[in-house]
Amino acid sequence: MSKTVLITGGSRGIGAEIVNVLANNSYDVAFSYNSSYENALLIKKEAEVSGSVIEMYKCDVSNRNEVNRLIDNVISDFGKIDLLVNNAGISQEGLFTDITENMWDNVFNINVKGVFNCSQAVLPYMIKRHNGNIINISSMWGQVGASCEVAYSASKAAVIGITKALAKEVAPSGINVNCICPGVISTDMMASYTNEDIEDLRKQTPLGKIGMPSDIANMVAFLASEKSRFITGQVFGVNGGFVI
Ligand code: NAP
Repeated sequence: MSKTVLITGGSRGIGAEIVNVLANNSYDVAFSYNSSYENALLIKKEAEVSGSVIEMYKCDVSNRNEVNRLIDNVISDFGKIDLLVNNAGISQEGLFTDITENMWDNVFNINVKGVFNCSQAVLPYMIKRHNGNIINISSMWGQVGASCEVAYSASKAAVIGITKALAKEVAPSGINVNCICPGVISTDMMASYTNEDIEDLRKQTPLGKIGMPSDIANMVAFLASEKSRFITGQVFGVNGGFVI
């Protein structure tokens, strides 16, 4: 029987590549999008070439009602969720002294409360089956902090904290929880960076290159596989050596 994955924020960037890689690893894939409907449709069509079942759902992960509806719909369509990938997220740049309360809340509502909402809604189904897997996408900035990205760094540090605590709590229920901390990855999230900024980041990366969404998706595929069954509560840097 095929395994089912739910990936949040599968319409673009890293999430879209996770959809593609897991579909090609025989997973049936449910993924959510928020505003990028057209792109989500394209990702669905591309992933369907794998022969896996692919469904897309509109959901703002910061909205509790929308998340509950998402999980109900996925369970109704697929019957189960074996793996949840909490990928949806936003960045926020600027001086700490310029961050407004709204900006702060927005980052935390999507990056942290989104992980809380989705994980809490999915877990009862996993606990019932005594089987499940959650992979959270944090950031290397959650490990070491980035200047002018205090809200983002703090939100991603919270995702690491959620991973470690939740892993201990649900391990007796047969559920693994792990976290990936990407380095600099070429996606729309870097759109605000100038070519100079990107070149600077490339030079700061010991392997001398910017990462691709597939670098993260391949780590997700490993953590989604039976090969990782004895791994839980861990934080994996996929960053070209930027943070060691
Ligand atoms: P991206 O290209 O900007 O894509 C972000 C995704 O998140 C989109 O699919 C978007 O959906 C979704 N999203 C945004 N707000 C949402 C909301 N309120 N509810 C539901 N979905 C929402 O970003 P990315 O680079 O792929 O980043 C993916 C994850 O990796 C994020 O958690 C990010 O923090 C993390 N990360 C990225 C990098 C990097 O260098 N790119 C580095 C470290 C960590 P719509 O477009 O449909 O709205």
